[in-house]
Amino acid sequence: MPSFTFVSTANAFVLRGAVPVFIDIRQDTLNIDETLIEQAITPRTKAICVVHYAGVACEMDVILDVARRHGLVVVEDAAQGIMSSYHGRALGTLGELGAFSFHETKNIISGEGGALLCRDNTYCERAEIIREKGTNRSRFFRGQVDKYTWVDVGSSYLPGEITAAFLAGQIEEADSITAARLQLWNTYHSFFATFEGNGKLRRPIIPPGCVHNAHMYYLLLNSVDERGRFIEQMKALGVQTVFHYIPLHSAPAGRAHGRVSGSMEVSDSLSERLVRLPLWVGLEEHMPHILDAASKCLV
Ligand SMILES: *Cc1c(COP(=O)(O)O)cnc(C)c1O
Repeated sequence: MPSFTFVSTANAFVLRGAVPVFIDIRQDTLNIDETLIEQAITPRTKAICVVHYAGVACEMDVILDVARRHGLVVVEDAAQGIMSSYHGRALGTLGELGAFSFHETKNIISGEGGALLCRDNTYCERAEIIREKGTNRSRFFRGQVDKYTWVDVGSSYLPGEITAAFLAGQIEEADSITAARLQLWNTYHSFFATFEGNGKLRRPIIPPGCVHNAHMYYLLLNSVDERGRFIEQMKALGVQTVFHYIPLHSAPAGRAHGRVSGSMEVSDSLSERLVRLPLWVGLEEHMPHILDAASKCLV
């Protein structure tokens, strides 16, 4: 898995006794560098976990081929990737398992919540048991067994009805939410083109074949100091901008539970220079102010 990701990517595996092996990212998409995966594989490797950062697809053809040749499972952390695609195929549907997040910070939300997509029906059956506290209650409700019982280790992963109802409404609006976000994303992208031309920053890069969902608009500044100044000055002008992630290989729990494969140079460098701009449906009226503030901070 990449080191440049949210902690949940690693926690999911550590909770089940696995050791995450961190791999560096690509300069362009900040996704796992697919050319470094093969050299990290050992006889004990079980899965390749990819993260579609900012809703932009990883190089899945290469990754799926490596997995096939080594008999590995591909798990997609598509937390940021709902409504995005890779050569026409939806993110989250390309590996054996795909996970979406409906956390309040994502595109389609229910406060907290998520979805698991399974390619194979046996995974679906097991997932159904795990999310129902390790019981076969779902089979009972379908009349497939006459009583339900504890059959596996599980927990309570089901959303409540009110959360689910809210989410259903969000999903109905998924197209319009995505379109509204893309409009904001494109406004940022056009605006920052000249700053990129002047060497002030680098804008996100979307490779051919990747259709993205405008999950995030970020800038890569030239140094950690420039980023610090930018965040501070934007704040003084009333615009909150944030950075992420502390690469997991350098975090206390990452050092305790995982290990690195190869250099982490790109992860370390880009994570120090990345800044996220506000992006939410309804932001439009604030856009002139944000862009004006940014141009003042980038002189
Ligand atoms: C948000 C996010 C998660 C966590 O999602 P939860 O719904 O909080 O579990 C995992 N991975 C990535 C890359 C994320 O952005």
